[in-house]
Order: sequence, then C-alpha cells, then structure tokens
Amino acid sequence: MTVPEYDVVIAGGGMVGASLACALAPLGLRVAVVEAVSAQAAQQPSFDDRGIALSLGSQRIFATLGLWPALAPAATAIKTIHVSDRGRFGVTRLQHQDYAVAALGYVMTSRDMGAVLQQQLTRQAGIALLCPARVVAVTTDSDLVRVSVAQDGDGQRQLTARLLVAADGGDSRVRAMLGISVREQDYLQDAVIANVSTSRRHQQTAYERFTASGPLALLPLSQGRSAVVWTRRREQTPATLALDDAAFCAQLQEQFGWRLGAFTRAGRRAAYPLRLLRVSEPQRQRALVIGNAAHSLHPIAGQGFNLGLRDVAVLAEVLAEAAAGGDVGAPAVLARFVERQGRDQRQTALLTDGLVRIFSNDFLPLALARNAGMLALELLPAGRRLLAQQAMGLAAPVSRLGRGLPLESR
Ligand SMILES: Cc1cc2nc3c(=O)[nH]c(=O)nc-3n(C[C@H](O)[C@H](O)[C@H](O)COP(=O)(O)OP(=O)(O)OC[C@H]3O[C@@H](n4cnc5c(N)ncnc54)[C@H](O)[C@@H]3O)c2cc1C
Repeated sequence: MTVPEYDVVIAGGGMVGASLACALAPLGLRVAVVEAVSAQAAQQPSFDDRGIALSLGSQRIFATLGLWPALAPAATAIKTIHVSDRGRFGVTRLQHQDYAVAALGYVMTSRDMGAVLQQQLTRQAGIALLCPARVVAVTTDSDLVRVSVAQDGDGQRQLTARLLVAADGGDSRVRAMLGISVREQDYLQDAVIANVSTSRRHQQTAYERFTASGPLALLPLSQGRSAVVWTRRREQTPATLALDDAAFCAQLQEQFGWRLGAFTRAGRRAAYPLRLLRVSEPQRQRALVIGNAAHSLHPIAGQGFNLGLRDVAVLAEVLAEAAAGGDVGAPAVLARFVERQGRDQRQTALLTDGLVRIFSNDFLPLALARNAGMLALELLPAGRRLLAQQAMGLAAPVSRLGRGLPLESR
C-alpha cells in the first residue's frame, strides 16, 4: 500500500473545515487544510459580520476542544428566546432557568469565531495550512486520494491522503469533482443581515418574529448591539439594500415593533440567497462531504453551522476510532460516519424546511393555526421542552465531544 503524505486533507478552511482541523489536531493525524481565501481578506466568505447563534451543544463541543476560553470573550449568552408573530397575539418564551442551564446558547459574529479558529490552525504543529490555495482536481483509488491544489503565484502541487473531506461550502466545487449530486430548492428569499444598536438593552434575549415577508431575527451581540437576520422575498431585496441607515432603521422598526425601543444605528448590510440543498449521498471512495457542502439550510432556526459542527464532532470521533487501527479513509469508516450522523442531518433539514413553510406563509388559516400553536407552546411545558432541546442542539444523540469527553489520541 502506498504511504500518502497526509492522513486527511480538508478542502475549505471556513467555519466547518477549520473546526474539523482543530478537532483532529490532538489525534496525531497528519492533516492539511486547503483554504481559498485568507481569513484576513475582506471577501472571506465564511468569516464575515453574520451573527451566528451557537447552540449550547456547540458551545460544549468547543469547550471540550479547549477552544471556548478563546471564543468566550466575543460571545453573548442567550438567556431568553422570544418568538412572536407580527400583528397577531401568539407569543412563546423559552427561559434558561427553566432548563437549569446558564444559557440557551451564545451569539458571536462569524468573523470573531474565524479569528480564533485561524489562530488555532496556525499554532498546531500537525496541521499544514495552505492558504490562499484552491482544490482544483481530485482523483481517488482504493489506496489513496490525490488532490491537486493551485496556490497563488506558486503553480500547482499534488497532495496525497487517505481521506479527503470537502467542507468548501454550499457551492462546493469539490462535491462536483467527486460527482456527488444535490437536491436543491430555491426559497426565492434572501437573508438581509446588519448589526444594529437599539435604545433599550437586549437583556440577552434572542427575538424571532414572523412577518409577511418571512422571519426576522434579532440576536443579542456584545456592546449592546443586536444581529439582524431579516428574510426578504427576493424581489424586495434590492430595495432593502438600497435604503440609507435611517430608512433601514425605520422599516425595521415597523416590522419588529418597540420591544427594544428605537433602532438608533445600523451597520453594513449584506444579502444571502436562501435555499435548501442536500447531497444525495455524502461519501465517495476515500472522500466525504460535510457542513454546508452537504446541507445548506435556511437560517430561520439558526441550525446550519450547529449541524455542521455536529458533523465535525461525529466525524472526529469516528476517525479517532479508526486511527488506532490504521486506515482513516477505509469504506467502513465513512459508512460509520453516515450511519451515525445521517439521521441528524435529515431531521434537522426537514425541521428547518417545515418551519420555513409554516412561518413564511400569510395564508390566514395557517397564520391562525401557527398562533394557536405558539399559544399552546406557551402553556404546555412538554412542548416547550422539545423546542428548547432542538434550540439548544441537544435533540440528536450527543457525540463524545458534545458530552465533554475528549477524543483518545493514537
Ligand atoms: C444570514 C445567515 C445567518 C446564519 N445564522 C446562523 C446561525 O445563527 N446559526 C448557525 O448555526 N448557522 C447559521 N448560518 C449558517 C452558517 O453560516 C453556515 O452553516 C456555515 O457558514 C457553513 O460553514 P462551512 O464551513 O460549511 O461553509 P462556508 O462558510 O461556505 O465555508 C466554505 C469555505 O471553503 C472555501 N472554499 C471554497 N471553495 C474552495 C476550494 N475549491 N478550495 C479551497 N477552499 C475553498 C471558502 O473560501 C470558505 O472559506 C447562517 C447563514 C446565513 C446565510
């Protein structure tokens, strides 16, 4: 058997790829991360001003990996989640003390998270970071995978590995190179994001409000700011992006109301097209697809990265078990990952899609049913508990890393 240069090559060093590299670092595996855009570049697509709601489950994974002390200073705890429907009566509240946890989750910008992950990558002796560099071709055989990488100003080189993990995002080129097909549905909506200041304190409350154009979320951020994720119908997006600060705040006020007082400042706006994308199957010979490359979800329930990090935790666990016996890219190893994580991927995608359909719809009977549902949830502790388990990222079987158990090294 030919001995490859690496055990694992990760294509994409964004939020999911970088997290995987950090999770594999203590295992003594030889890992290379190939990332197209430097973390400091303004156009870095994974690390931008997006406010990311991290579930409690994700916080626990980062804590077990030893990363939470570095992430915590940039994180704001979510103590309450408040769900409401614009112009109707239904309201549901989830409070951290009802579930005996210090917080239901945490919020930080993906830029802050990226800075910490990047710093970790450059510190780990066992990880080679190739950046800026792009995966441009892949060939696999039963022994190893060959990954052609184009590095700016440095031509092309070939890496060999036991396993290639594609974490290169929703528009994954590597997925296409592997011949993995996707099922895709365009929601014909965009998420417009902005970080805003309000005259009243957010009191560590995350708000989700359902409006005629779709859901509007305000997540608590540091320095009293909130991260807005505002779903717009695609035809509304250009006009929303063209608004000046004052007009943007006024429209937001009209949709969100006065629970946080007046909107006083709005930062830079950006829009992301929303779709549901799922791979037909995540594995090929010596290759696996994870994160947004395997499943891109609507941000309605803040599940995308949290699910991607659960992919990371389960994959790292499976690879740690395999590393002891030798071949981390063997078909049985990839099958074990699919068996353990496939259900979570399917259920989270289904749940998120269901929420989009129910909450982006202003058809009156459905709107009334949704209100009655929210009221029932407010009154029924068992229903609220199920919702809280999902929001906290604790509904799926929990990985070793999610239970606070470090992975065994070789
Ligand atoms: C508005 C919005 C709000 C969101 N809010 C939340 C939230 O609150 N909670 C949550 O859990 N999730 C949220 N998400 C989802 C979350 O942002 C994604 O799930 C997450 O970014 C996926 O990370 P990823 O690393 O898989 O992909 P990406 O972030 O797309 O990263 C892919 C990386 O691969 C690199 N790359 C691409 N092609 C190549 C190549 N050929 N070679 C090498 N590198 C390559 C890219 O440069 C990039 O760095 C939100 C998403 C949006 C749009």
